[in-house]
Amino acid sequence: MKQVFNYIYGPVPSWRLGSSLGIDLLSQKEKICNFNCVYCQLGSAVKYTVERKIYVPVGKVIEELESMPNTKIDYITFSGRGEPILAKNLGEAIKAIKLSRKVPVAVLTNSTLLYNDEVKKELSLADFVVAKLDAFSTESLQEINRSAKAIKFKSILEGIREFKKGYQGKLALQIMFIEQNKKHASEIARIAREINPDEVQINTPLRPCRVNPLPKQELDKIKTYFEGLNVVSVYEAEIKKVKPVSNKDTLKRRGKV
Ligand code: SF4
Repeated sequence: MKQVFNYIYGPVPSWRLGSSLGIDLLSQKEKICNFNCVYCQLGSAVKYTVERKIYVPVGKVIEELESMPNTKIDYITFSGRGEPILAKNLGEAIKAIKLSRKVPVAVLTNSTLLYNDEVKKELSLADFVVAKLDAFSTESLQEINRSAKAIKFKSILEGIREFKKGYQGKLALQIMFIEQNKKHASEIARIAREINPDEVQINTPLRPCRVNPLPKQELDKIKTYFEGLNVVSVYEAEIKKVKPVSNKDTLKRRGKV
């Protein structure tokens, strides 16, 4: 009988993380997020929340992880159907995974809760944090990320800056460029320079969603604004061939691989 996974998915071929095994600590039918990005591959229905709570017991995740077939994995990555930091047991889950597997742990976050000291402490347990920064003002945050009302651009920026100061792991900024923010690439690059992350990931939505990706020439031009920083671009990345342990559970979290 084919094994069914409820909380883990992939591994997926990530241009940023190689062979990445996903953990979805939310694992709800609807997307749980405090953003509803115009390019979100999970569709536009969202349960907006800024409150952290426990959705999945850590023991269940570890059980699945330990029962999966032996597969080559470069990162175990917290992502899935929404913002992973909204799971209140993220820190506990990172600790448990590190005891169970000798694989580095990554967290993909939309950066909204980095101002919170408890969140900073939990995230500091991860080896790699990939923090979203598509906007350059509160207005653009509402236009591109369609954030929950309580979220302010200023507190996102302060949160990333503060987190960077104390973090010993690798911090990347991931920037999704689309029609709405491409003219402001130099402004976003100025902010990125101030933050001085270990890596800047320049992206455009190549997987199926409601907005069109920018062509390679435009992304190449945008990349020039980030000169001097360690930049990787989605069009230049080498994509590994990996085979998910379950296609169905992977599609639910990620759209078409
Ligand atoms: S932050 Fe991620 S999950 Fe949330 S709406 Fe944006 S793309 Fe979708």
